[in-house]
Amino acid sequence: MKYIITLITTIFLLVPWGLADSRHIDSLMSALKYADSDTQKVLLYDKIAWEFLNSDLDKAASYNKKGCVLAEEIIYRRGMGKSFKTRGVIAVFQSDLENALKHLQNALVNFRLINDKVGEANTINNLGWYYQQVGKYKESLEYFEAASSIREEIGDKKGLANSCNNLGVMYYMLGKYDKSLQKHLTAIRLWEELKERDNQAASFLNIGAVYREMDEKVLAMGNFQEGLKIAVEENNLRSMADAHSNIGDMWLENLKYKKAINHYLNALNIREKLADKTGIRESLSSLGAVHTAQKKYHEAIAYHNRSLHIAKTIDDKSGMLTQYNLLGEVQNLYNKPREALSYLMPAQQLAKELGMMPELAKTYKQISLAYLTLEDYQQAFQFQALTTEVNDQIFSEEKTRVLEELKEKYESDQKEKEIGMLQKEREIAKLRQRGWMILSLALAMACVIGMLVYRYRIKVKNTLALALQKQAIEERNHALELSNADLEQFAYVVSHDLKQPLRTIGSFAGLISRRYPGVLDSEGKEFINYVTDGVKQMHNLLTDLLIYAQTGKNSTYRVMDMNEIIDTATKNLQDFIREKNASIHVEGMPFMVGNRSGMIQLFQNMISNAIKFNENQPPEIEIEYRDENDRHLIVVRDNGIGISADHKEKIFVVFQRLHTQEDYPGTGIGLSICQKVAKQHGGEIWIDSEPGKGSAFYISLPKDFVPVTHPLGL
Ligand code: ADP
Repeated sequence: MKYIITLITTIFLLVPWGLADSRHIDSLMSALKYADSDTQKVLLYDKIAWEFLNSDLDKAASYNKKGCVLAEEIIYRRGMGKSFKTRGVIAVFQSDLENALKHLQNALVNFRLINDKVGEANTINNLGWYYQQVGKYKESLEYFEAASSIREEIGDKKGLANSCNNLGVMYYMLGKYDKSLQKHLTAIRLWEELKERDNQAASFLNIGAVYREMDEKVLAMGNFQEGLKIAVEENNLRSMADAHSNIGDMWLENLKYKKAINHYLNALNIREKLADKTGIRESLSSLGAVHTAQKKYHEAIAYHNRSLHIAKTIDDKSGMLTQYNLLGEVQNLYNKPREALSYLMPAQQLAKELGMMPELAKTYKQISLAYLTLEDYQQAFQFQALTTEVNDQIFSEEKTRVLEELKEKYESDQKEKEIGMLQKEREIAKLRQRGWMILSLALAMACVIGMLVYRYRIKVKNTLALALQKQAIEERNHALELSNADLEQFAYVVSHDLKQPLRTIGSFAGLISRRYPGVLDSEGKEFINYVTDGVKQMHNLLTDLLIYAQTGKNSTYRVMDMNEIIDTATKNLQDFIREKNASIHVEGMPFMVGNRSGMIQLFQNMISNAIKFNENQPPEIEIEYRDENDRHLIVVRDNGIGISADHKEKIFVVFQRLHTQEDYPGTGIGLSICQKVAKQHGGEIWIDSEPGKGSAFYISLPKDFVPVTHPLGL
């Protein structure tokens, strides 16, 4: 158990090293006397309390209390944090554990209120130390880790080195040697950077202790000696003493008693210089042990007695118990059972009081041995039974402890595994997220590509459809062309071939009436007149039909002066115009692109109709032009009979007429030809009329007409 002391001592790195330096205390006291502010006083009280911490706990407590009261009075948060932190540490030393926790937590609140990270980390570190003192290692480790991360965050290198050291100690306590070594090595590196050789020496000693526990004796010795070397160089007495003590232990284990004694004596010497009573008691005990090993019981008893005496002076009960037991053991070995019992009886009392069962078992065993030597077998048996009983109790406690330790180890392993799993899951989630992103991107790209393909296909389809449509149109046009050719052929046959027999009929009808004027009575002559009229009518029909069929066929287009076109049409009709005494007024006709013969035919039909379907004397015809932006509008207005609204469409259909031949002769083709010519020029034609009020024919033609020779001539 001895070597752990080194580690626990090292934990005190969080408390300033060394014992009270009277000169230092004096200067602090005079500073306190001349302090001109309360805040300064609070800080000085705290410093003085720290100085007394290792030498005079009562004084430390009294100065600390003054600091606490003043800080609270003036509500000085930083001072309250510092004072209560010190108060917590003092309370731990006083074994007032409940209040210790309360004070440390109070300090923490104050540091957090003013966001003092250094104070916060130091207090958390002290809380770790508190939990280590009360044996709650898991909590202790958590606090040390928390302090470590704050110190790392704020770049407090010295604090971080201290945290690494404390964590190294805790991992050592928990049997996690690899982690312990890792932390101590980090601490050593940081001390090196900080040029804190003193603390580096302490860390080497701690590493030695870890190796010793791992049964790596050579490595342990190497580190202890390295620690000693640095401590000597730096003249760090405390580390020198610790190093000698540890090296002595190593020699004792190797049965090199002389070397062990030398080192123990060196340690004792230094500790006496330091007035480190706990250390002195420990060194004396070690010297006792090495003399016992050499069977030099007399010397051993002397050393243990000195150790016991010091333990009594510093009220170190646990130390007293150890020495009582060791003295009892040595006296038994020395074959002095009564003397042994004189030490073992108070040991029994103390062990029970302290509840230290392993020590109690040792005590019972030595008592039993003493009675055995005294031949008091009953007592010997009784104490042997008690030894077994306590050992059983220890065993079952040990068993429970080991089981709990195992459980704890299992749980922490499980926790680590869970953390690992969580990390893995997080990585998997990240990968999955990345996967989803890639998938989404791929989907988006697929959609875009799909859309493009779709659009391309539609385009292709449309192009195909258009091509097919074009082909269909072309085919249909071709078919129409063929049918048109048939129609023209038919029209030609009708108009040309039928004209021939018609002419024959007409000629012979005229021949009969001329050659046989006496043979035919008046009725016969009338019949012959019907035949001649019919032939004439048929001839006109065939002529108009031929014109209709040929309208637009093989058209040629050119720029035309519409005045000249209408003039020509009028000239063609001059007999009829003169006959009916019709007047024609033409106004402002434009130039336009068109088929001359077609246009002459159109106006010829228009003018002849205007004169024909007119009972007024004289028939008056006005042809006017209106410029309608992108269209030419020509209006042919007459003062004729007009038509009703019902017939506005009908009159443009081939062979459709509204009157009999007797009333108004005609073929019913004229307006059809007009419409055909208008369409041939991209235009349209319509009528606005009322019966008895004349008619107005509107011919609207686009100005930007581009002539296309239509197969149908449309
Ligand atoms: P047609 O003149 O040989 O009868 P159209 O095709 O030229 O044949 O005319 C068709 C019909 O439209 C005519 O029969 C007539 O009833 C009517 N029509 C044409 N022009 C006029 C007009 N200026 N006034 C009144 N009715 C008309």
